Amino acid sequence: MLSCYSNMRREIREETLEVSRRIYEYAELGSQEYRSSKLMAEHLSRHGFTVEMPYGGMDTAFKATCYRGGPTVGLLAEYDALPNGHSCGHNLIAAWALGTAVTLCEDFGISITVFGTPSEEGIGPYAGSKAILVEKNLIRDVDFVMGMHPDDRWAVGSVSLADLTIEAEFRGRSSHLLGPDYGINALAPAIETYIALNNLRSSISDLKRPVIGMIIKEGGKASNVIPDRSVMEIDLRSSKRTYLEDLYGKTREIIASISRMHSCEFTIRDVTPLYDEYISNETIDDMLEEELRSLGVDPVNIHRVNEPAMGSTDEANVSHVVPTGHIDVKIVQPSIPAHTDEFRMAADPDRAAEVLTIGIEAAAGAAAKIVRDRSLMKRMKNEFKEAIR
Ligand SMILES: [Zn+2]
Repeated sequence: MLSCYSNMRREIREETLEVSRRIYEYAELGSQEYRSSKLMAEHLSRHGFTVEMPYGGMDTAFKATCYRGGPTVGLLAEYDALPNGHSCGHNLIAAWALGTAVTLCEDFGISITVFGTPSEEGIGPYAGSKAILVEKNLIRDVDFVMGMHPDDRWAVGSVSLADLTIEAEFRGRSSHLLGPDYGINALAPAIETYIALNNLRSSISDLKRPVIGMIIKEGGKASNVIPDRSVMEIDLRSSKRTYLEDLYGKTREIIASISRMHSCEFTIRDVTPLYDEYISNETIDDMLEEELRSLGVDPVNIHRVNEPAMGSTDEANVSHVVPTGHIDVKIVQPSIPAHTDEFRMAADPDRAAEVLTIGIEAAAGAAAKIVRDRSLMKRMKNEFKEAIR
């Protein structure tokens, strides 16, 4: 299957792998990717890219542009790790963005902007940075965008749920267990909110794919003291942003009314920005599929299969402001999930080198074909306009 690679220049391939290796070793958590983002910026500027960093008020975000006239292709780079290292393979996403960008700019003479987007995994102040950049209108001056993710299969296109994680804090007054007239139990409203939201979920149509994940992070310190504080984290998801906003509104009402009933004070805060549902662009994804096929790969095209969304991503927010294509690169056997040690080992660039090269060649080839074909550009843009109406 892999015999036909590689048209990519040897130097670019070597450099891409080296950058990926180093980011893999740094394994920096979200919002702390100082060395990883700096390394990316250094390599891009070495290739003549103009780098803006920090970007959008985020120290580890950047925008790097190589201008060659004509339409501009955007690429999304990620480089954040998890506590167990690069178990989501974002080091490969960074390498893919670098390799594709340099190939397009230097070998194809096409204008490129790489967006360095920290904390996709949602850790720290830059959690969901793509949503933050979209909110600030900083994913701009590009005609379309492509993203990549390592996976247990080859695929083009993406489906994801709209998603918002919030934290609710309930405050009462502590007292001896046997002095309930004095105390205000702050754990009770958390327990009742848990049950009420469970019931709410079953009253919403399955078509809206309501998903509610809940944990009680804090529920008191000793069983012989009436707790004066409890904290819940609540992950709300739905198939569309509008449904999610509705679910969020109901959740707030439930928290407020239960708190009142118990004479507790409460605070609700967003833990992540709101993630949209993904709007995949078939024109771009079809070109990615065509390129992958010419490289001997047989990808799933999500526009031709009816798959339920399994996750949520800040890349979806980008897909609402600019036509967005996506490629999944197979680095593990089917059914091995991301965030595991097996996935981390598979994301070692020395093991993933061949598939990474294919991912880069397919993306560069597809981007070049779209940019050079006016009717494809038009179809892509019309499809996007239609989808966001
Ligand atoms: Zn990931």
